Amino acid sequence: MSVSVRDALRMAALYVVLSILWLTLAEVVLRGMTENSLALTVGRQINVVVWVLFSAVLIYVSRVRLLNFIGRGARLRCEDRERLRMAAAVFDSTLEGVLVTDRHGLIVHVNRAFMRITGYQQDEVIGQRPNKFKSGRHGLAFYQQVFATLAEKGEWSGEIWNRRKSGEIYPQWQTICAIRDDEGELSHYVAVFSDISAIKHSEQELAYLAHHDPLTGLPNRLLFTDRVEQALAAAQANKRGCALLLLDLDHFQSINDGLGHTIGDQLLKLVGERLVEVLGGGVTLARLGGDEFGVLAENCQQVGQAGKLAQGIIERMREPFVFDGHRLFISISAGISLFPDDALSAEQLLRNADSALYKAKSNGRACYALYTEELTAHAQHRVETAGELRRALEQDELRVFYQPVHDLATGRQVGVEALVRWQHPLRGLVPPGEFIPIAERTGLIAEIDAWVLRQACRQMVQWQGDGLQLAFVAVNISSRLFGQHELYQQVAEVLHDTGLDPALLELEVTESAVMEDPEVALEQLHRLRELGVALAIDDFGTGYSSLLRLKRLPVQKLKIDQGFVAGLPHDEDDIAIVRVIIALARSMGMQVHAEGIEQAEQASFLLQELCQLGQGYWFGRPVPAADLRWS
Ligand code: C2E
Ligand code: MG
Ligand code: MG
Repeated sequence: MSVSVRDALRMAALYVVLSILWLTLAEVVLRGMTENSLALTVGRQINVVVWVLFSAVLIYVSRVRLLNFIGRGARLRCEDRERLRMAAAVFDSTLEGVLVTDRHGLIVHVNRAFMRITGYQQDEVIGQRPNKFKSGRHGLAFYQQVFATLAEKGEWSGEIWNRRKSGEIYPQWQTICAIRDDEGELSHYVAVFSDISAIKHSEQELAYLAHHDPLTGLPNRLLFTDRVEQALAAAQANKRGCALLLLDLDHFQSINDGLGHTIGDQLLKLVGERLVEVLGGGVTLARLGGDEFGVLAENCQQVGQAGKLAQGIIERMREPFVFDGHRLFISISAGISLFPDDALSAEQLLRNADSALYKAKSNGRACYALYTEELTAHAQHRVETAGELRRALEQDELRVFYQPVHDLATGRQVGVEALVRWQHPLRGLVPPGEFIPIAERTGLIAEIDAWVLRQACRQMVQWQGDGLQLAFVAVNISSRLFGQHELYQQVAEVLHDTGLDPALLELEVTESAVMEDPEVALEQLHRLRELGVALAIDDFGTGYSSLLRLKRLPVQKLKIDQGFVAGLPHDEDDIAIVRVIIALARSMGMQVHAEGIEQAEQASFLLQELCQLGQGYWFGRPVPAADLRWS
């Protein structure tokens, strides 16, 4: 019972008692007054009248108060009704499900949203207990904790899985409040909840996208690294070993370039599927990016076992991929690193496998290589050299040597090629093959090439001043630099600073640099050509050129790779290749230049085949500018 009602009763009781008192007294007094009217003194009569009047006032006041009170109560009830009507409207139109139970946990109200979310109608749940909706996903401890929080704080919020009428279980975000009456007694529980299955679904989708490669559906690098870390922890605990294989498709770029990215993507997808087939269960396969895949084989500690796995993959890849009217062949290379023999951390294992892969690629591709101590030493040497190379640039330890280029028909020297050397304080003269690849990996190549270019142009200006009639100075440009837009700027700057006639400068780019990204190459070559410099393709015959592309390049010269010159004039294959290259160059209006000529008969064979220019030890080795002999 509420306090206000009790007040009303109290006031009514007072009113009744006072009324009875007044009536009794009035009766007594009146009777007394009529019976003994003469016996009463005037003073006493006044007292009686005052008394009666006083009682009347009291009764009047309490009556007014009672009426006031009743009136206010009526007003309040009116306001409450208004408030309740509003609450009911909100209760019914809210998107969140609402369920109210009495203190015994029996459902007394549900709203429309409740019915929409759960699928139950009101009459199916009123009088029932909410455990009707239990999904079975939470244990007893969970519900105990909910009620403990409710008892302690009066409120609980959290995620809870319940079951719809259809039987489907789904997640809710639910807030339960304990409602107490004015005396602090528990009267009801109100649960407000929203269906968060859509949010959960997108959360799961997001988590999936963050950890998988969308093209192949395989785990991505993030998930793979995580799995490797977990596998290493488990392997360490169980004293087992595992192998990590990095796989990389060979010449995948040429498929992308030649057939387009859509075909490239389809092929990658099929490669992923074939790898899943070869590897079977118990092995984690991931696409780490581009055409690189990672394999984690747990329980595989033996070198032989890992090698066999890699060999199996390589062999299965040899079978053609047939799709959409295409029949494509592609090979794969693999690098293997073993735990715990090669590395103890996931990061190190991945790095070692990468070094091994690099080795497999250098060994001619379509094979696998293992990470060994020797490889580590090699990597360390590379790191040291990179540090030293920086110092070499600062301390002017680089040198430019020049090798003569001769006109095969007249025998006259017509140009030179600038070749960089490193005058190492301890190791002596270091050839470029030992430091150019490192400079390319560390990015130092940009500075080195810019420096060589400047030296060579300056030297050429000096030779011109000395009256030497040279048609060109050739400078090598790294493939790394070739893709960069700044190259054009750099060349223009050097030409401007040194004052060299652009027609006297020839830039050599390797065939593989051009074919790495033919569209970028084409644009770059056109821009360089606009400067007025000549362009040559170096090491021609080794870079899988597409003839169609070659035709579009604004290039004036092909340099036959020395590998094909070495077998001349006897090796049938070399003869055939050299003849084709010469015919090709001439048909496209390009000059042909053979490098690596070590014998007179090689020079005369090339001349006979109409090759115009020659370079090699037969004519002269690369030497410092001062040591060049002029014929
Ligand atoms: P490349 O541009 O094809 O240069 C020709 C290489 O063949 C030079 O090696 C040269 O010394 C060598 N050579 C010339 N004639 C003969 C011969 O008759 N027999 C043999 N066996 N070899 C001969 P080098 O100087 O060791 O340079 C190797 C490569 O390093 C160059 O090949 C070029 O690709 C690169 N390189 C050299 N200097 C630079 C540079 O300044 N920048 C860049 N990015 N690369 C450079
Ligand atoms: Mg060259
Ligand atoms: Mg070359």
